[in-house]
Amino acid sequence: MMRTQIPSFRLPEEVLDEEVNYILDMGIHTHFNTYVQSMRSIVEQDYDAIFVGTGAPKGRDLQLPGREEAGKRVHIGIEWLASVAFEHTKSIGKKVIILGGGNTAMDCCRTSRRLGGEEVTVVVRSPFNTMKASPWEIEDAQREDIPIYNNMPPKEFVIEHGQLKGVIFEKVEAVFDAKGKRSLVPTGEPDVFIEADDVIIAIGQDNAFPWIERDLGIEFGKWDIPVLNKTTFQSTLPKVFFGGDAAFGPENVITAVAHGHQAAISIDLFCHGKDLWERPSPMTNLISQKMGIHEWMYDSAVVSDERYAVPHADKKKTLSNRKVEVELGFDQVLGFKEAQRCLNCDVQTVFNTSRCIECDACMDICPTSCITFTANGKEEDLRGRLLAPADNESQDLYISDILKTGRIMVKDENVCLHCGLCAERCPTAAWDMQKFFYNVTKASSECLTPVLA
Ligand SMILES: Cc1cc2nc3c(=O)[nH]c(=O)nc-3n(C[C@H](O)[C@H](O)[C@H](O)COP(=O)(O)OP(=O)(O)OC[C@H]3O[C@@H](n4cnc5c(N)ncnc54)[C@H](O)[C@@H]3O)c2cc1C
Ligand code: SF4
Ligand code: SF4
Repeated sequence: MMRTQIPSFRLPEEVLDEEVNYILDMGIHTHFNTYVQSMRSIVEQDYDAIFVGTGAPKGRDLQLPGREEAGKRVHIGIEWLASVAFEHTKSIGKKVIILGGGNTAMDCCRTSRRLGGEEVTVVVRSPFNTMKASPWEIEDAQREDIPIYNNMPPKEFVIEHGQLKGVIFEKVEAVFDAKGKRSLVPTGEPDVFIEADDVIIAIGQDNAFPWIERDLGIEFGKWDIPVLNKTTFQSTLPKVFFGGDAAFGPENVITAVAHGHQAAISIDLFCHGKDLWERPSPMTNLISQKMGIHEWMYDSAVVSDERYAVPHADKKKTLSNRKVEVELGFDQVLGFKEAQRCLNCDVQTVFNTSRCIECDACMDICPTSCITFTANGKEEDLRGRLLAPADNESQDLYISDILKTGRIMVKDENVCLHCGLCAERCPTAAWDMQKFFYNVTKASSECLTPVLA
């Protein structure tokens, strides 16, 4: 999907080739251009374990009056994007309607603009603020002169003399009942007709496993998704594992990669006859950021700048060639400014009880009053007794052991700016700013050794 769905103007082919080649260059065996028709044929071969990462390849259709007659002028979003990527489709009509409000819809409308669509319109059935697409994808589409109409579910495809002429939409509004459940209720306003030469349906995708026989011991559950263990990614047929969109439905690339890591660990353990639940821990570490008496390895100045937008290539250029990457990336100056906005969430305030002489200097200097030295107590009571009450209960309090006077140090992590002033002020280095490292667990190098006699 990275090649066939994510358009080249967002993910250029060269970048993808480079990434994919890192894997191919590891010397794995590949069988390209091979559609697996039957899972049985794979299971019956001599593989110790099988990983299924076949994605969620079925785009949803919309059965409305006129759908059949509209024929080839109505496209399923993901199929259409693939046909553009493979260059089977090189053009589209001047007037295009995209039905749907997710990221696929955004890719379809922007691709249409590049293939000859002059009046490209996105229509979503529900309110604008409930669109599934990421805000930045919506912004990028709007920047390419693509209007988005909301609260308009499609009613029918209009066909004249066997030709698609457009779509009729109903006007609705979102109404919520006492339990907060939303319904889209017609407003009574006249229907809206929008002309179109082509319509692209981008209303979601489903998993499809027509090639997995249902008598192999791989159980399927709700939505025809395999029944899997969420930690091990193992299916009900022990040697078969699933990951990526094929596992729990459509997500994103980074989730698919994370599933891959976890499934690889399981497969490694499985092939060594070990317990899949005895999973190796990730590597974590904390390293002091202090260099000298008043020097820290990180910059702790707090700036209130808004996020800097990534500069875009000239629209004239990008809209005339679908392969021209839109985002130019930050230059050095802008990149530096953007980096200055970092809140140093990875630099932790680490407290050492035995070093604290309870001078309260850190409490005085903290700009957000998030440190309190007080008597111990139940969490609920403690939260109200802090210098600045800690009312975000989803954020744990950081609490020290009992200090020499019998008090404890309580810190409300929710409002800490990671400015480091407490550590700077502390005369005994009881506070230290330490960078947190996390390295996700990888399957061990043992997986390269021969297994299972
Ligand atoms: C339009 C669109 C835009 C997206 N944009 C983004 C984005 O910007 N960022 C992001 O993170 N995610 C994005 N996603 C989601 C992302 O592409 C997927 O979540 C991700 O690619 C899932 O990876 P996967 O490896 O599980 O499956 P896929 O990438 O779908 O790979 C599955 C592979 O299995 C092959 N296959 C399927 N069935 C068989 C079979 N029977 N035999 C042999 N091979 C088979 C397919 O050909 C394919 O190569 C987007 C998705 C869409 C539809
Ligand atoms: S890092 Fe700054 S905000 Fe956080 S506890 Fe220390 S002084 Fe307070
Ligand atoms: S400044 Fe240091 S020694 Fe003083 S109270 Fe805070 S942590 Fe303890």
